[in-house]
This record gives sequence, C-alpha cells and structure tokens, in this order.
Amino acid sequence: MIKDIKEVKECPECASTNIIHNEKKQQVICRDCGMIFEPMAPEREEKFEKAAGIEKKE
Ligand SMILES: [Zn+2]
Repeated sequence: MIKDIKEVKECPECASTNIIHNEKKQQVICRDCGMIFEPMAPEREEKFEKAAGIEKKE
C-alpha cells in the first residue's frame, strides 16, 4: 500500500528501481513493467478494511 509516492523507492510489482515519480498526478510509474501506482486516499483504505471484515465473517 502506497501512502506517499516519495516513499516509493522501487516498483512494488517487479522491484525495479527504474521508476518515475509524477508528483502532479501523484503517481509512480515503473519504466520496466509499465505499472502505474497511486497512493490510496484514507477514505478508500477504510472501505477496504470494512470489506475485508465482512469477508472474514462469511
Ligand atoms: Zn515494475
């Protein structure tokens, strides 16, 4: 989970350090595998936690 793109030093997908920080779009783009990562807003994190809780109960 990415909270701040500046904290990303390598690609979470392929562990490449050949990444670009796009601060305007708040995205991290991997030049090796082409993946684009965006930090999650706190609101979305909360929703994911709730969804995970429901899954565990069922
Ligand atoms: Zn990558």
